[in-house]
Amino acid sequence: MSAARMITTAVSAMIGALSLGSAAAAQDAAPPSLDVTLKPHTTDQAVDYIDVQLKVQAPAARPGEAFLKLPMVFASVETARYGANDIKVTDQAGPVALVQKDDPVDPSNFMYFRRWEVSRPTVGDVTVSYRAPARAYRPKLGSGPPFDLRPEAGGLNGAGVSFLALPDKSTPYSIHLKWDLAAMPSGSHGAWSLGEGEVRTVGPVDLLAHSYYMAGPISSYPSPGGGPFGIYWLGEPPFDAQAVAVWTQKAHTAIAGFFGEPDKPYRVFFRKNPYPGAGGAGLVNSFMSGFSDTPAPTADSMRGHLAHEIVHNWTGSLSGPNGIVSWYGEGMAEYYDPVLTWRAGLITTDEFLADVNQRAQSYYGNAMNTAPASEIAAKFWSDTRVRKLPYDRGSFYLSTVDAEIRAKSGGQRKLDDLTFAMLDRQKRGLSYDTDAWLELVTAELGPKAKVEFDDMMAGRLMVPPSNAFGPCFKRETASYRNFELGFDSASLTSNPRRVQGLVAGSAAEKAGVRDGDEITTAVVLDAIQGDAKAELTIDLKRDGKPLAITYLPRGKTVEGYRWARVANVPDAACAI
Ligand SMILES: [Zn+2]
Repeated sequence: MSAARMITTAVSAMIGALSLGSAAAAQDAAPPSLDVTLKPHTTDQAVDYIDVQLKVQAPAARPGEAFLKLPMVFASVETARYGANDIKVTDQAGPVALVQKDDPVDPSNFMYFRRWEVSRPTVGDVTVSYRAPARAYRPKLGSGPPFDLRPEAGGLNGAGVSFLALPDKSTPYSIHLKWDLAAMPSGSHGAWSLGEGEVRTVGPVDLLAHSYYMAGPISSYPSPGGGPFGIYWLGEPPFDAQAVAVWTQKAHTAIAGFFGEPDKPYRVFFRKNPYPGAGGAGLVNSFMSGFSDTPAPTADSMRGHLAHEIVHNWTGSLSGPNGIVSWYGEGMAEYYDPVLTWRAGLITTDEFLADVNQRAQSYYGNAMNTAPASEIAAKFWSDTRVRKLPYDRGSFYLSTVDAEIRAKSGGQRKLDDLTFAMLDRQKRGLSYDTDAWLELVTAELGPKAKVEFDDMMAGRLMVPPSNAFGPCFKRETASYRNFELGFDSASLTSNPRRVQGLVAGSAAEKAGVRDGDEITTAVVLDAIQGDAKAELTIDLKRDGKPLAITYLPRGKTVEGYRWARVANVPDAACAI
C-alpha cells in the first residue's frame, strides 16, 4: 500500500459521478459532436509527441468566455502547459487567435487551470490542434499519482488530464475517439479507459480528461480484447503480468457479479516508473497501476491492490469531509477485497487468514490506533500511522458489524445487506453519507449501533468478535511491538527534510540518528509498518558527509489480538 496510491481516493471520489452523468446524458437528443484524433509520433524508437486534433461541432465560442481549458497541475503533476501560440484554432472564416488566462495558483498543487478564449466569435465547426510532448519523467511537486504523458517501451501512456486541452464546458458531447497510428511501428494499437481502438461514447469532456491512454506495441489480456474488461502494458514488467491479469479478470468477474453488474467495463493500465516507487490512480472505469524495477513488485502485491481498487468502483466514498468519511470507502474496499476473492476461491483460506493477521499487526501495533477520526485529515500525509487508520479501523469495524448482524438475525442477514441497501439509496439519488449508514445499521442492530459507531469515530479500539471471520477462525491475544520511527514523521515531508523530535531511547536514537540530520532520500513507511521484522535504512547527511543508518523501527510491546485456525473445521465450512 504505497503512499501515492492513497491519493486515489480523493481523485476517484471527484470523478465518481462521471459515468453516471454520461448515462443520463445519453437520453438527451444528440449532444454536439466532439471528434478527437490522437496521432503519436516516434523518433529513434521512442514516442516523442502526439499530435492532437479536436473537431468541435458549432461551439459558437465568443471573446470573454473560456473556450478551452487544461489544468496547469493535477495532483502534483505538471501538465503540458501549452502557450496560446501552441494551439491552432480554425473555423469556416479561417484562423482564430487565442487569449490565454490562468486561474489563481493552487498552493497545494492539487489543480488549477489555464484557460483560452477566442479573439473573435467562431463561425460553424471549429478545429483545434496542438502537439503534446511525451516527455521522460517530470519530477512531481509533491505526493500524488504519476499521471504525466510519457514514452515507454516504444509506446506511450498518460492520463488525458495531463495533455488534453479540451472545451471548457461541463455539458455532454457525442465523443468519437480515434487513433492515427501511421507514424508508429506496425502492430501498434491504442487503448483508452473507455475502450480499444476507435470508441464512441456520450458524456462531458471530463470523460476524456480523467481517463488513461496507452498506444504502441501494447500487450493485453484478454488478447484479442474487445470485451468490457482489459489489462494493458508495454514492454516486459518485472512481475508476471499475464498471471496478474488472469487473476484480476477473475476477481473483477467475482466482484462485479457480487454487486450485480457483471458487464460493467473496467480496464487496468500497468505503467513502469523510471524511478523507485509505485503509485496508482483510479480513473473513469479504470485504474492506472504504477510499478518500478527496484524494488520490483510481486504478482501477489499487484493483484491484492487491484481487487481493493475494483471494489471502490461500487462502494465509492461517502459524501462528507475527507478523513471523517474515509473509514467507509477504504474500510469497504479492505473488507471486500479479501472476502469476495476468498468466497470466489481466488485466495486460499490460509491466505485469507494471513490477510486478517496482517491487518491485526498493522492496527494493534499502531501507537496512533486510538486517534479520533477528526485528526485523520490533518495528519494524513505526514504520518503513515494515521494514514493507515481508516483502512484498518474501517475494515475491523465492518467485520464487527457483520458479526453482530449475523448473530442477531440467526445468520439470516449480514453486512452485505447493508452494503446493497446503501448502493440502492445511491442509485435512487438519495444521500450516501454517514446519516444514511447510521439509519440502516440502527435498523439492524438497534440504538447500540450508533454508540458503537461513535466509539469507532472517537478512536476506541475495534475488536471484532472471535467468530467475526467465520467458524474456522478464533480470536487470540497477541503482543506486538509498536511501529516507531523514533522521530517526528513530519521530518520526512518537511522542506528541507531534517530529523526533528528524536525520541530518547528509541531504536533510531540507539542506531545513531541525531536531531538535525538531513534526510537525503525518500522514505516510504507503509509497508514497513505492517511487517514487524522489516528494518528501515535511512540515508542521511551530517556535517556534509553522507551516512546510512539501519534499524528496526519498533518501540514498546503492546497487547492486541490475532486470529488462529480452529482445528477440525474443513475449508469447505469456512466461508462467511
Ligand atoms: Zn482505496
